[in-house]
Amino acid sequence: MNPEVKERIDRLAREHRLTAAELKALIDSRTEEAAEYLFEKAREVRRQYYGTDVYLRGLIEFTNYCKNNCIYCGIRRSNARAQRYRLTQKQILDCCETGYGLGFRTFVLQGGEDPYYSDDAIVQIVSEIKHRFPDCAITLSIGEKSTESYRRFREAGADRYLLRHETADEAHYSKLHPPEMSFQNRMRCLRDLKALGFQTGCGFMVGSPFQTTDCLVEDLLFVKELQPEMVGIGPFIPHSDTPFAEKAAGTLELALFLLGVIRLLLPSVLLPATTALGTIHPQGRELGILAGANVVMPNLSPRDVRKKYMLYDNKICTGDEAAECRMCLQRRIESIGYHIAVSRGDFIRGRKAV
Ligand code: SAH
Repeated sequence: MNPEVKERIDRLAREHRLTAAELKALIDSRTEEAAEYLFEKAREVRRQYYGTDVYLRGLIEFTNYCKNNCIYCGIRRSNARAQRYRLTQKQILDCCETGYGLGFRTFVLQGGEDPYYSDDAIVQIVSEIKHRFPDCAITLSIGEKSTESYRRFREAGADRYLLRHETADEAHYSKLHPPEMSFQNRMRCLRDLKALGFQTGCGFMVGSPFQTTDCLVEDLLFVKELQPEMVGIGPFIPHSDTPFAEKAAGTLELALFLLGVIRLLLPSVLLPATTALGTIHPQGRELGILAGANVVMPNLSPRDVRKKYMLYDNKICTGDEAAECRMCLQRRIESIGYHIAVSRGDFIRGRKAV
């Protein structure tokens, strides 16, 4: 391997930072050999905090109505071909019940931005889940809200919040979103969430249209600066009923490389091997774990709605029951020498567990 590349990876593993120019050079000059070396370092760092534990999050996709019109997303407002659905509070609680039995101790409520669910409704759902499953963590992933709304969700007991920043480059942001959506507001939301004490997740798509290496460098610098507890990344995958239908998908190779880099930038971060990664390659999620990820998010949504939460084409696991997804992932994780932990899987702050 080029000694300069090796030195850069060693320093990233040791100091958990690189300059913008170094990150750019690392990405642009990556080779298979460099990636293997990076993943080895990433696994080593991850092991120091989390051993071979992989944390489970049960994903409940409770609505695909959305008032937003993100250009890349299959459930965008303008997609008249999306069959819309909403889950009732009872259906959501039933998903949690099933999930609890399967060993889930985190429930992620994700949806489009659906005004049908008022803040009061979300507060009620969160309170009820907390009441029934006091040993579980709740993650919300319901988009941009006011500071006050976030405060109410937090007080109701929500522990975590996922809001990918999508891209840290403002000009790039405006190519992925309609003019009524603002980069500044997305950033405001993320800072509010951190300040309110949520374990906060940001993240971005890899290979989204118009993304350059400079955009990725900004993403990495932003991730380092925000110090989120979680980072969700996965390849962009086109959806046939969006204006990006003909755009190329992101690659497995670059997504894995960035997982490795993020593990070294933020050693104890919670890093999912995402469904999108599993969609572009049959072993995508296993490879994600081997590149430094430590979280998987199997689907807990009722089977009859799964095909409707189509953010991108060919999304996997849309025909399976919750139990099947759980067991399939367990097999996959164990096949690579890791194991699924039955615990909330909270962020470890500054302390090495092992
Ligand atoms: N409304 C919520 C949840 C969005 S869906 C929110 O705004 O946070 C969760 C994530 O799926 C998005 O943040 C986006 O990064 C990802 N996503 C959407 N469309 C995608 C596509 N075509 N390819 C890959 N990922 C996509």
